Amino acid sequence: MSVTGLPPYDPANVFARILRGEIPCRKVHEDEWALAFHDINPLTPTHVLVIPKGEWVSAADFHAGAGTEAIAGFWRAVGAVAKAQGLEEGGYRLLANMGPDAGQEVPHFHVHLFGGRRLGAMVPRG
Ligand code: AMP
Repeated sequence: MSVTGLPPYDPANVFARILRGEIPCRKVHEDEWALAFHDINPLTPTHVLVIPKGEWVSAADFHAGAGTEAIAGFWRAVGAVAKAQGLEEGGYRLLANMGPDAGQEVPHFHVHLFGGRRLGAMVPRG
């Protein structure tokens, strides 16, 4: 079990396959620590996913296990992508789903970067 009760890392998950170049993505950024690409089903005018290059299931998994250089490199990449996407002036939202209650679909840690319009309520009430 990973930190969040998710199964161990599955190297066949779709983002692992994107990292290995086995399936295409609409890449917006790549460096030593991270890959960023457009979400295939965008919910906002800008909807980019940023993923670390290591094999981490969730945010908890990543922050518990990755080295400080990898963690810093990843979050710097998130900021660089937001800037390159022109979101710094209007603002943007970062979101990471973790585990079943959050509805995490892909078991490779990823941050959603939303922007390009007023985003409204943070999460539905209830
Ligand atoms: P989550 O629910 O946080 O795990 O989000 C997974 C996200 O990955 C969803 O927004 C999907 O639209 C997106 N997604 C799934 N497959 C692909 C893909 N091949 N390329 C880009 N985005 C994808």
